[in-house]
Amino acid sequence: MTTQVKHYIDGEFTAGTGTSQIVVTNPANNATIAVINSATADEVHAAIASAKAAFKTWKEVPVSERARVMLRYQHLLKEHHDELATILAHETGKTFEDAKGDVWRGIEVAEHACNIASLLMGETVENVARSIDTYSYTQPLGVCAGITPFNFPAMIPLWMFPLAIACGNTFILKPSEQDPMTPQRLVELFVEAGAPKGVLQLIHGDKTAVDILLADPAVKAISFVGSVAVGQYIYKTGTDNLKRVQAFAGAKNHCVIMPDANKQQVINNLVGASVGAAGQRCMAISVAVFVGAAKEWIPELKEALAKVRPGLWDDKDAGYGPLISPAAKVRVLKLIAQGKEEGAQCLLDGSDFTVAGFESGNWVGPTMFTKVTTDMSIYKEEIFGPVLCCMESDSLEDAIELVNASPYGNGTSIFTASGAAARKYQHEIEVGQVGINVPIPVPLPFFSFTGWKGSFYGDQHAYGKQAVRFYTETKTITARWFESDIAVAAGPNMSIN
Ligand code: NAD
Repeated sequence: MTTQVKHYIDGEFTAGTGTSQIVVTNPANNATIAVINSATADEVHAAIASAKAAFKTWKEVPVSERARVMLRYQHLLKEHHDELATILAHETGKTFEDAKGDVWRGIEVAEHACNIASLLMGETVENVARSIDTYSYTQPLGVCAGITPFNFPAMIPLWMFPLAIACGNTFILKPSEQDPMTPQRLVELFVEAGAPKGVLQLIHGDKTAVDILLADPAVKAISFVGSVAVGQYIYKTGTDNLKRVQAFAGAKNHCVIMPDANKQQVINNLVGASVGAAGQRCMAISVAVFVGAAKEWIPELKEALAKVRPGLWDDKDAGYGPLISPAAKVRVLKLIAQGKEEGAQCLLDGSDFTVAGFESGNWVGPTMFTKVTTDMSIYKEEIFGPVLCCMESDSLEDAIELVNASPYGNGTSIFTASGAAARKYQHEIEVGQVGINVPIPVPLPFFSFTGWKGSFYGDQHAYGKQAVRFYTETKTITARWFESDIAVAAGPNMSIN
């Protein structure tokens, strides 16, 4: 059965009138599961106009009432956790457990948004001069927009709209056209939670829709997560149009393995962090750097990776699912072939992997290279597939130099039993999220998601206090009250003493 994906514009779910159609497929066999009528320019403008009108009333809704919408929302998300994960698994191919994790990480941000009153608190200083006090408020910006990638269709939209809306903004979500049904369900539940008409809009489409959001002066801030080229385009165009922009982009995350680390923990963690979710995570470990004698563990790592078997979303023994699209598979296979041509040693090659009965799916088996050097395409490019590149280093200093020379800075980790080595690494590494004996150090929502360098364009990051700063303006008030006026106000027969 083919589902018609719906936009949500001005309080109505609608198939839309667009004639340009996008087909949504099941990555396990590329069968069509849904169709999108891409939003027309008029529909995108209607969503912006409705969000702009709704801002006038939503910003006046008391903060505790806004928080109550979030309380109901996080409750509904939890009630529908399995249902959301099932929709998500069907359209992304993720295993059910992985899909549940995707939804859960988003729920945690919605939970955090329930605490919005404390997060919005400003600052005060009494008596900055005689009888003068200064205090600040945080006020919402207006219409904000979010453009999200395919790889976390629940978590990443939920990084954005609950906090933006709790701050008093209205929001337009433009999710990935490759898996739009999870975001649609997120929006339906938000409406059920009692969000007034116009506060949240959902439009589906591609560059055409995004370009309208980037150009319209009513849109005050853009949150983007996706690939490097698109992130740079969105950051440059949005800021050129004088908008506030945060753009989270691609990554190439290194894990440094010291010879004093716990070998079994290293192997178990590297397997999950490199090929889990088919490597389609912006925090996946794609480069393992073995320092000194740690390189002797490479054959055991290969054995462990070889045991991982991709499979269907509801196969409990599957380690991960297919890649999102045939185009993604072609890209990954091309990079694997380039790795071999450029002289890396392919210890494990998943290029020919398939699942019986689902031969037309976008499968790639676990793949592992050794003898990788920094000039190779498999090192320079984000592969975004189940491919681990192994490198060797003589010392921790050399490993740090290697990681710091990467243009990306999303995440990194070190495995070691030495506090001194861990301390040196966390201090000197030029990467925004660091794990110590933790392979994928994604911060919980009371911190922020703090990618650096080519993995992020902007200054205020996603969720936590930084997101609240991103979605608000600070108004600083300096006030003087004259005691003599009190007597005047109180009338001639009354004294203040
Ligand atoms: P993508 O850049 O292809 O698409 C992201 C969004 O941008 C989608 O909504 C898409 O419709 C839109 N888009 C695509 N091309 C566009 C264009 N030319 N102009 C305007 N909009 C356009 O990314 P993807 O393939 O969906 O996601 C994978 C990428 O996202 C990877 O590079 C991954 O590292 C990155 N990612 C980064 C983070 C992070 O936090 N840094 C998190 C998740 C994913």
